[in-house]
Amino acid sequence: MKFYYCPECKDLRPKSWYHRGKCLLCGRECTIVVIPMSIYGYLMYALSTVGATMLAFELMGTDLGLGESRLYIMFGALILALIFSFLELERTTWQAKEKIGKVL
Ligand SMILES: [Zn+2]
Repeated sequence: MKFYYCPECKDLRPKSWYHRGKCLLCGRECTIVVIPMSIYGYLMYALSTVGATMLAFELMGTDLGLGESRLYIMFGALILALIFSFLELERTTWQAKEKIGKVL
């Protein structure tokens, strides 16, 4: 998990695809804060992969032989992935703030 931190605005936000290293508020170069991914992060990726794969099979009309339970697994995996991504973001944001606190 990467965060951009602007020392000027004290603005900390998770790195996203449209973010190119400049502060969104003032345009200055940001400091990159890297927080290693935890088990939550890995679970999030694993579960969203499972959910997305099952959704793809569902859309293609491929029968996996799971019957009705495929819907529970599919939605369960996607909902859990959402929960884990939230937990991971909370945890990494907190750690990033702590890291910045040490830097300053
Ligand atoms: Zn800034």
